[in-house]
Amino acid sequence: MSFNTLGLSDALLRAIDKKGYTVPSPIQEKAIPPILERKDVLASAQTGTGKTAGFTLPLLQILSQGQKLRKRPVRALVLTPTRELAAQVLDNVRAYSEFLDLRSMVIFGGVNANPQIRALRNGVDVLVATPGRLLDLHNQRALSLANVEILVLDEADRMLDMGFQRDINKILNLLPAKRQNLLFSATFSKEIKQLANGILHHPVWVEAAPENTTAEKIEQKLYRVDQKRKSELIIKFISEGGWKQVLVFTRTKHGANRLTKKMVAEGITAAAIHGNKSQGARTKALGGFKKGTIRVLVATDIAARGLDIPLLPHVVNFELPNISEDYVHRIGRTGRAGASGEAISLVSQEEISYVKGIEKLLGEKLQSEIVAGFEPTVSFEKSASTPRNKSRKKAKPKSNNRNYNRRSRR
Ligand code: AMP
Repeated sequence: MSFNTLGLSDALLRAIDKKGYTVPSPIQEKAIPPILERKDVLASAQTGTGKTAGFTLPLLQILSQGQKLRKRPVRALVLTPTRELAAQVLDNVRAYSEFLDLRSMVIFGGVNANPQIRALRNGVDVLVATPGRLLDLHNQRALSLANVEILVLDEADRMLDMGFQRDINKILNLLPAKRQNLLFSATFSKEIKQLANGILHHPVWVEAAPENTTAEKIEQKLYRVDQKRKSELIIKFISEGGWKQVLVFTRTKHGANRLTKKMVAEGITAAAIHGNKSQGARTKALGGFKKGTIRVLVATDIAARGLDIPLLPHVVNFELPNISEDYVHRIGRTGRAGASGEAISLVSQEEISYVKGIEKLLGEKLQSEIVAGFEPTVSFEKSASTPRNKSRKKAKPKSNNRNYNRRSRR
């Protein structure tokens, strides 16, 4: 399948070509045609599947064909849970609309609102926004949503996790009843289904095809260790293994800060990224991590969600998430073109029940190891223990759509 057969205009095909994409990803193949037919779409896709282009390309095509209004009211609204994701979506919109006469901008909180208010005055066709700042600026009458033709909810599951349900409802009330709705979500809980039912009309359901190539397996390792010795162990892994780029997940913001400090004290360049960090600090940390001046990025789930970082050789769960799906999202960050990535979890006694939930979701058993000198003081259940050298096991999540980008980079 090539992009030419999807019904996209020459201007968009040129932009796609410039990006270097040769074939559409599965989600693009499936989502673009119904969106161009002006249908509502419910898409099951997570970061890495090419989902952003999946909705951005047809959205731009529809807007470029529609009637231009002199004042350029917002005609397409893309809602995202985080500032980072909003900024990335805007980058995509800008890249794909390079040869079109369409204006786009992003608004999110945590930065001065005045430049955003000024920019809105000039008119904008595509607005990418996080819910809170959008409502703020609407309350200040800095924008109108009365002309929105297309609404996109990107990473809708995260928006609900982050408590945006009420904001979303308020935003829906500001939109015209007649519009096209696109909802993208990695997981489909009862709440997401309810949200989708309330927004979408006879939606076409599209899903990214599951990955099944063996070269992309993720090596999952569990190490049993006392909670209080985890920092020591992870520092040992990073130093002795000479790891250059590691993404570490902690459950809390304070935990992320504490661990970062300990690493820095041991001479490992590290930065924390979470909701309490200013936008500037987050951008700086992410930039340093991508450039290689920061070796370790310590993140909470919400902050890491949607981050546009290349696939990494090492992902560490400093603490296991209590939501099993988050484990799948986290380990999906690892894996290198043509080689396996390593996802390491440090598991304390208190987290054993989380392992059970994760195993249930993955449909397989995970073996755990103990590092000599880091033996847990509380003994674990017998069934969970195996000798170190026999327990390396390759596995991959069954329920997950693997990363499209991986395939394209091989
Ligand atoms: P996304 O899932 O939208 O975050 O996209 C994941 C990555 O895949 C991004 O770096 C995109 O630039 C890239 N990408 C999207 N579509 C394609 C494609 N058709 N071919 C190759 N790479 C793509």
